Amino acid sequence: MGSFKLGKMTLRSLFGKPETVMYPLEKRDIPAGHRGVVEIDMAKCILCGICVKRCPCSAIEVDKAAGTWSINHFGCIQCDTCVRECPKGALSMSMEFPHVAPVKTRQVESKPEPTPEELAAEAAKKAEREARIAAAKAAKAAKAAKAAQEVESAKE
Ligand code: SF4
Ligand code: SF4
Repeated sequence: MGSFKLGKMTLRSLFGKPETVMYPLEKRDIPAGHRGVVEIDMAKCILCGICVKRCPCSAIEVDKAAGTWSINHFGCIQCDTCVRECPKGALSMSMEFPHVAPVKTRQVESKPEPTPEELAAEAAKKAEREARIAAAKAAKAAKAAKAAQEVESAKE
C-alpha cells in the first residue's frame, strides 16, 4: 500500500465520521429482518419442548412440571430456528439488540394461571374424554358378554 493511500486513510479516520457508535448509549436504526432477542408469548406456549430440541446451542430449557420456559440469551446465536419450529407461533424475534449485562443470567418465564373460562373448557374436555372412555369400556364388556353367551349356547 502506498504511503499516500495510507496517509489518506489515516486522515479520514482521524477527521471523518466514526464507523462505530457508542452502543448501548447510542443506537443505530435497526434494519428490516433484524434478528434481535428471542421473545415468548407464554399464553401460546404449550411447553412441548420442540424449541429445546431444535436449538443448536442448547440455549432453551423447558420444565413441564414447574410450568416454565427459559432461555440463556448469552448462549443464543439468533439463528431463528426456534421461532420457525414452534408449532404454536409462541416465539418471535424482537427488533431489539441483545441484552447487555455484567453477569450471565437466564430469562425464566412461567405459564400464566388459567382463566376461569379456560378451566371450565378444560373440565368439559376432561369430562367428555372420560365419558367416551366409559362408553368404550361398556361396549367392550357387552361384546365380551355376548361372545361368552354365544359360546355357552353352542355348548348346549
Ligand atoms: S416450541 Fe413453542 S410451544 Fe413448544 S415449548 Fe417451545 S415455545 Fe413453547
Ligand atoms: S434463535 Fe437459535 S440459538 Fe437462539 S434460542 Fe432460538 S434456536 Fe437457539
